Amino acid sequence: MSRINLQQLKSAIRDIPDFPRPGIVFKDITPILGDGQLFQSVIDHLGDEAEKANPSKVVGIDARGFLFGAAVAYKLALGCVPIRKKGKLPYKSIGSSYQLEYGDAEVEMHVDAINPGERVVLIDDLLATGGTSGAAVNLIQKLGGIVGSALFVIELQFLHGRKNLPPDVPVYSMVKF
Ligand code: AMP
Repeated sequence: MSRINLQQLKSAIRDIPDFPRPGIVFKDITPILGDGQLFQSVIDHLGDEAEKANPSKVVGIDARGFLFGAAVAYKLALGCVPIRKKGKLPYKSIGSSYQLEYGDAEVEMHVDAINPGERVVLIDDLLATGGTSGAAVNLIQKLGGIVGSALFVIELQFLHGRKNLPPDVPVYSMVKF
């Protein structure tokens, strides 16, 4: 198991009050990305967690989930699947609507991204209300995929996002606020 100083990780996350709108405290992860050793230790840690689910693919959520998801996929030599905001994917896609902490949205995935019965791990930077990752799980399951685990760097526990994910999906977050 890789070692990481979770307190150091927590301190690196920068609070941006009233972004993108008044009342939201945005958790800025760019200081994690900007620290090569910290970023590597986060990827190593997420990689260890992902491996436990024995996946063949990592599914990353638009857009910060791509940064962590792609690196974990590379580390474990797994396929990488992007779930994107509506209208961005070039090929035939399926969609799922959800409510965000700040607004409504829809996410999409290519119809051939996941094979029936394939095990995947879902990765995003942050679990807030769980609307986004709930919609992402929905897309994966629509294609017959199995979500072995859902991994997040940050969880905003006061928003109870885990309730929006199916009970059979193990949820793991590195730091909680
Ligand atoms: P939710 O669907 O409410 O769980 O929101 C999760 C998604 O929105 C993730 O992709 C996050 O990147 C983003 N997000 C929501 N709330 C915040 C926040 N307070 N700070 C940073 N990102 C957030």
